[in-house]
Amino acid sequence: MVTILTKLRKKWNSLQWLLLLTYILVGVVPLVLFTNTIFRAMDGYFVEERKKELLGQANILSGKISANHYLYDDTKWKQFNEEISAASNQGNFRVLVLDSCGIVINDSSRQDVGKTYLVAEIIEALDNKDVANQQEDGTIYAAVSILDEHSNKIGVVFISARSDDVSTTVNEIRRQSNIVFVVIAFIVGILMYFMAKFFTEPLKKVLNIIIKMSEGHFDQRIDIKGLRHNEISDLALACNHMAEKLEQVETTRQNFVSNVSHELKTPLSSMKVLSESILLQNDAPKETYIEFLEDINSEIDRMTEIINDLLTLVKLDQKEVPIAFVETELNQLIKDTMKRMHPLADVKKIALTFIPLKEEIFADIDKTKFISAISNLIENAIKYTPEEGSITVTVDCDHQNAFLSISDTGIGIAEEEIGKIFERFYRVDKTRDRETGGTGLGLSITHSTILMHNGSIKVNSKEQEGTTFLVRIPLHQNV
Ligand code: ADP
Repeated sequence: MVTILTKLRKKWNSLQWLLLLTYILVGVVPLVLFTNTIFRAMDGYFVEERKKELLGQANILSGKISANHYLYDDTKWKQFNEEISAASNQGNFRVLVLDSCGIVINDSSRQDVGKTYLVAEIIEALDNKDVANQQEDGTIYAAVSILDEHSNKIGVVFISARSDDVSTTVNEIRRQSNIVFVVIAFIVGILMYFMAKFFTEPLKKVLNIIIKMSEGHFDQRIDIKGLRHNEISDLALACNHMAEKLEQVETTRQNFVSNVSHELKTPLSSMKVLSESILLQNDAPKETYIEFLEDINSEIDRMTEIINDLLTLVKLDQKEVPIAFVETELNQLIKDTMKRMHPLADVKKIALTFIPLKEEIFADIDKTKFISAISNLIENAIKYTPEEGSITVTVDCDHQNAFLSISDTGIGIAEEEIGKIFERFYRVDKTRDRETGGTGLGLSITHSTILMHNGSIKVNSKEQEGTTFLVRIPLHQNV
């Protein structure tokens, strides 16, 4: 029972029913009020018209009575009666002719002759005022005085007409328009229902897909083929984009976990092999032990390096270490950084050149993070440039940005690999990288750091010719 009630409430709260309710409130209710007012006005109009008509008839009769001396001339009694009856039949009302004392002299229904009739309208007519009023029961009374040739009041023509005929006309119009109104309201209601369904159906589809996504089914897509181009199709499209992004994030996450496991498993396996080999050799010379332990030690170093890089990345991702921008002169900073790289370059006899800008360049940077990002790019350049190659670092700036380029004459990167080098654990040549000691995380860290500086990093490279990394950072950070 409760679930049925909740379902019903949900249904009534749904957009479809809200639209229908809006239609009833905005369309039907005002229309009902409007037609009611119209009919009331019509009713009043018809009553007024009927009053005018009755007064007209009473005036005609009054004129005839006066002109023909019906009230004094008994010889014309028959003619008088006929005149009264004809008027009554024609106009569908009752006619009473009264003398100046309010006594009924003639009555089209022949009921009240001789009786005294003193209703308000008759008294007013005797006061020489033509009057017509609708009574509480709907009957209309019209009274007009009869004047003789000397303008003396000699009586009153009193007409009593039921308003049924007026009401019948109005009611008939009302009945017919009510039928038309109900039919139209019903048809429009059905149309509204289907229109609301037409609008809400795609929304329901979008909602269903979002619910599935929230349950972890990121492969779900909304079919937008049948949808017209409007806000709903845009929403569906945005939803599909979101699903794609979520799917990418999920794949990246899975790849990352498997890469981490793989990267850590490799040094662990070699450590296992090394330690088992020592254990199997019962009385191996001390030098062999030292050699094996050195190998194990270098594997531990590698694992530490990977874990340190991972920690740096995670901290950068989670913005755990807050970025502290300090205005720093870039020429000097790069110069100092490169100084520390010279011993590495010298081992491979690589010429390390720095071309500074003549003017000083001040930029807002997080010194530690920025130095480690630039060091990583220079270290890579040294790592992937054969002996006796050359590396050139330049700095430049405009009004808004500082530009840095790190070019080498190294092995270069294949075109199809360029897009992937910023991915975590991505290494172009895995075997060589194990020799060079790379973790595949350095460029990811650099990329994250440059993004944190609201800058960008691009790569131009040609295999066997060399690589250039172009870094841009804004001079001023709006913190
Ligand atoms: P690694 O620690 O392996 O150097 P990085 O993330 O720093 O990891 O670099 C990713 C990959 O990009 C490297 O394995 C290498 O294949 C390629 N790479 C980076 N810099 C250069 C460069 N200057 N010249 C050629 N290849 C490069």
